Order: sequence, then structure tokens, then C-alpha cells
Amino acid sequence: MKPETRLTRIGRPHGGTGLVNPAVERGSTVLADTAHELYNAPPGKTHYGRMGLSAQSALRDALCEISGADWCALTPSGLSAMTLPLLAVVSNGGRVLAADCVYGPTRKFLTEVLPRYGVEIEFFPPRLGSGIASLMDERVQAVFLESPGSLTFELQDIPAVSAEARKVGAVVITDDTYSAGWLMKPLDLGADIAAQALTKYVGGHSDILLGAALARGNAAERLKDYERTFGCHVSPDDAWMALRGLRTLAVRMTRSAESALKIADWLSKRPEVTSVIHPARTDHPDHAIFQRDFSGASGLFAVTLRDFNRQRTEAFLDALQIFGLGFSWGGYESLAIHCGPQLRRDHGAPDDGALVRFGIGLEDPDDLIADLEKGFAAIAV
Ligand SMILES: *Cc1c(COP(=O)(O)O)cnc(C)c1O
Repeated sequence: MKPETRLTRIGRPHGGTGLVNPAVERGSTVLADTAHELYNAPPGKTHYGRMGLSAQSALRDALCEISGADWCALTPSGLSAMTLPLLAVVSNGGRVLAADCVYGPTRKFLTEVLPRYGVEIEFFPPRLGSGIASLMDERVQAVFLESPGSLTFELQDIPAVSAEARKVGAVVITDDTYSAGWLMKPLDLGADIAAQALTKYVGGHSDILLGAALARGNAAERLKDYERTFGCHVSPDDAWMALRGLRTLAVRMTRSAESALKIADWLSKRPEVTSVIHPARTDHPDHAIFQRDFSGASGLFAVTLRDFNRQRTEAFLDALQIFGLGFSWGGYESLAIHCGPQLRRDHGAPDDGALVRFGIGLEDPDDLIADLEKGFAAIAV
């Protein structure tokens, strides 16, 4: 079966109700029939709601199948899908190497929380590839990647980095939110743990916050243990919503990607735009990795503006009427933000605020282009 067909079949309820979607079971108590069973639940059954009931299990099954994973930890947000695996693999005296383009709140966790537990953090230029060997030693416990970075879109060579990490026994964790686990398969490329914000494309409707971290083998066992020990739980309602979003993931992403490329091409011809940063374009520095590792693009990309100053960029954004000004891309509605890249300037950061990121939704792309024209008209001198 082709992936799109499988997307309609995975995570369906087992058992004879005839329903194609799981029930939303709300419950903490799950009674046992016998005293013996209380401590010896049969496989697939639990006696405590925190472990998740049918909706959570259905979502886990579906996401595991897409990624070829043995376990899917479900977490209350995308951010916690990044922090849980990090906590599961680091310990006092260890080091973490992180790509310098990682999501701001992940960066804050790395720099402010982990050092308190005796863990050293080093940020490396995202395009370092196998050059990461020069930073490796036996103290490195985790390498954290985000490919592409969600503001500046550097792709990382996951196979090359993973090969170096394996030599010292470090665990490679990827933030795979851009691809929704759908356009790229980090576990097949050599990563140990693939984490994503289900909040974005999988949810797809800007109405839930949820995360997932997926792994195989030993890493899966460790992740499952930490998920349980930390008391991570997501509501059956949110899991159900994510599974519902998953059914239409492929069509939504395809549509957003087509519109985004059309809009990016249009923007690339505008005099106000100095560069379009979109990994599916041949002028992107990592386009070769994109072609090797991704089956397609999402609807997320950025531009840098000419003669930028913050006031001008804000005037441009304020004139937009269809684009919303907001952060949580991957929904049905298009969004724009101006942003300061997190990474160091010597790692390739553009001017603070010259960067505008777009998340393209499901509107007609010509309407979005007309909206951008209004934005440019507002800053014409
Ligand atoms: C949004 C986002 C997250 C965090 O997801 P939340 O559900 O908002 O916590 C993590 N990483 C990336 C790349 C994101 O875009």
C-alpha cells in the first residue's frame, strides 16, 4: 500500500464495533476482574488511565507505523516532546551538542535547565555535517538536531552526524516538526529519537497542543520508561483530535507546499526581497540534502527584506489582512511573523528582524499573493 492509503488505515480500533475511529474514553480507574489481574494486566490493557486508553493507543500505533518506530511517547506539547528525550538520555557530567538553529524554547531548556544537572551544552553550526567529529568525545550523551531549523531552514546531514554520534555512543534526537514525521524519516536516516510538535501539521487546525517522540529498540524502551516515570499524560480528547488531523495530513501538506512554492517564487521576484529561504528551491544551500532526505516540502519558509528596519517590517505585517500574525504554523490558516534568528551570527544569522517567516495554509495562493502586495504597498516610499 502507498503511504497515503496507509494513512487512512492505521490506528483504527481493533474489535468489532464497526467504528473507524476510536472511542474517547475518559478515565483514571480501570477496574480489574480479579485481584490477580490487577497486577498482571494482559498485553494491550492497563489498569490506570495515565498509561493512556484507546484514543491514545490508536494515535501511538498510527505514529509508530508512519515512522517505523517501536514506541511513541505522547507529551502535552511539542516542547515537552523535545525535553523528555533529552532528560531520558543525559546525566551529570555529560555533554549535549545541539545544532545552533534549534527552536528558541528548546534552546532555553538546553542552556538554562540542563546545566543545573551538571550537563554541558555546546551549539554547533547547523551545516557542520561529519565535521561534528571534531566536537565528539565519550562525554557526549546526546546530539540534538532540528532539520530544517524552523526560522532559518538549515538542513542537517542526519546520516553523517548519526554515524559520528554512534562512534561515541551518543543518542541523536531530531526535532522533526517541519516534516511532521511524514516528509522525512529521521529514524531511517540514523537518528535514535524523532520528536515533533503534533500541534503543527498533524493537529492541522490550530486547536490542540501535543507532542510525540518516537524511537526503536533500546531508545524506545528508555523513552517509554521516562514517559511513565515523569507522569506524562495527554488527554484522550487531544489524542483523538491529533488522530483526526492525521487522516488529512498528506492532502493538507501537499496543498500548503504547492501554495508555498508558488508564493516563494513570486516573492523571489519582488525588489523588496533580498533572499527567499526555502529548502525545496534550487537556490537553497542545502537543496541536495533536501532532495536526498525529504519526499516533499511543507508550507513553511522565510524571506529577508531589503533596507530593513523593524518599523518597516512591522508596517508590512500590519497591512496584511489574510495572513494572521502568529507563531503556531501548520494550521489551515496562513501566518507571518518577523523574527530574530536564534543562531550566532558567525553561524550565518541574518540581521535581527530582517527575517519574515511564512506558514502557508489552505487559502487560495492568489489571494495570499494579493495580500502580500498590500503589505508591500504599505511600505512603498
Ligand atoms: C512549535 C514548535 C515546537 C513546540 O511545539 P509546542 O506544541 O508549541 O510546544 C517545537 N519545535 C518546533 C520546530 C516548533 O515549530
